[in-house]
Amino acid sequence: MSAGGPGGLGGAEEQLSKVEIYDTTLRDGSQQVGLDLTVADKLRVAAALDALGVDVVEGGWPGSNPKDAEFFARAGELEWKNAQLAAFGATRLPRRGVDDDANLAALLAAGTPIVTLVGKAWTLHVDEALRTTREENLAMVADSVAYMTAAGRRVVFDAEHFFDGYRADRGYALAVLDAAVAAGADTLVLCDTNGGTLPDDAARIVAQVAASAAARVGVHFHNDSACAVANSVMAVSGGALHVQGAANGYGERCGNADLFAIIAGLELKRGHELLPPGRLAELASTARTIAEFANLPFEARQPYVGSSAFATKAGLHASAIARRPDAYAHVDPGAVGNRQHVLLVRKIVGALPEWFSLDSYRLMIERSAAEDRSEAIVRLRVGDERVVAVGEGVGPVHALDQALRRGLSGFYPALSGIHLVDYKVRILDGRAATSAVTRVMLTSADSVGEWTTVGVSDDIVTASWEALADGVAYGLLRAGAEPPGAQQDVPLHLDNLTEKV
Ligand SMILES: [Zn+2]
Repeated sequence: MSAGGPGGLGGAEEQLSKVEIYDTTLRDGSQQVGLDLTVADKLRVAAALDALGVDVVEGGWPGSNPKDAEFFARAGELEWKNAQLAAFGATRLPRRGVDDDANLAALLAAGTPIVTLVGKAWTLHVDEALRTTREENLAMVADSVAYMTAAGRRVVFDAEHFFDGYRADRGYALAVLDAAVAAGADTLVLCDTNGGTLPDDAARIVAQVAASAAARVGVHFHNDSACAVANSVMAVSGGALHVQGAANGYGERCGNADLFAIIAGLELKRGHELLPPGRLAELASTARTIAEFANLPFEARQPYVGSSAFATKAGLHASAIARRPDAYAHVDPGAVGNRQHVLLVRKIVGALPEWFSLDSYRLMIERSAAEDRSEAIVRLRVGDERVVAVGEGVGPVHALDQALRRGLSGFYPALSGIHLVDYKVRILDGRAATSAVTRVMLTSADSVGEWTTVGVSDDIVTASWEALADGVAYGLLRAGAEPPGAQQDVPLHLDNLTEKV
């Protein structure tokens, strides 16, 4: 490949060192099983990514389904602040003209400044999947890229299965890139479509291609070898200036490269400026927001942004964490908008005063065509006093929560500032249906923050009550509520409590 071709970068050194962040959540990421975004969801995700400050948002494949075409039609409703929009599609069909290709027509109709064209770079796929000649595949790439550049589009060329193709037939894989660049592609994306490449190979191959490429080199990794983020970071070290990935690592099979971990790693550990100033601190909240739009559980162990990413079991290390938080975290959690959590252990919390204790509760669950309704009667002791309270709710846990609050409100006015924000149930051993253990995680909040309590029992109501009572007790501690009478120091079962500090 010759330097300074039509798609050559040119310009100053500083310009070259800018790594472009290209998000493919709405196209490749949405191939994940269980991820089904409506057009409205897609617009919300796009807005969140734009607000975070990624450079390119790939909106979808307008030639493949009407939903993606509708997304592009409505994308103009958004006020784009940072990102440019890309539409994705394949090169023209074999032995057909570019003017006679519905997919290319749909790509143009999407009206995006960037068009991403995917073409075959592995001889095996040209021979067996495309079933055409290798020369025709090169012509398909060249014709399609030229067609889009002639229409004024910036063309990103995704070289499908590039790493496998490079290993099988290096000359042909590079010829495919040459064809794209000669026709005007300004970015050549080396795709690890099967996700099998390991970091040393990724770095070596990217460096070899980048050394002679006449266009910006990019990468697109899948996580089938658990190396997608590592490969992406290594690729940038090897000269890649464009990285594709998906929010929270969404994608089919084992997922795409997690764009958020790539951004955090490159910014915090490699000194690249990828997002606009100040936006890295929005990483954790953006990750969580997109998980909500995607209606997928947010993985607590997700690097950098997960709620447990900086959680350390306290006890032995608690005082050291308080003194030197940097000694127990690889980066400052605040840099990515996350917080350091400490898991309290029984020993610490065992000295809590007892604000109330349970004598008994009784539940009535009424199910009818019109509505489900539950009623709870809770008998409590607060100091020397006995309290009976009734609560109603849409389910048994809601009714218990209402009864508990009603019973305690006269003693602890601070309760009015504490509310439930989340309730999750998990069966810990689903194989033994009759003896399954149920774990309830219940998140409560006050005006300052939130905390999660856990109840475990073979009965879902018992587990819920434990989590509920602990959540209220801990909220009263946070609120500085005065316990009744003399301190009794009876341990609560708060051994499974996490708190956001
Ligand atoms: Zn992919």
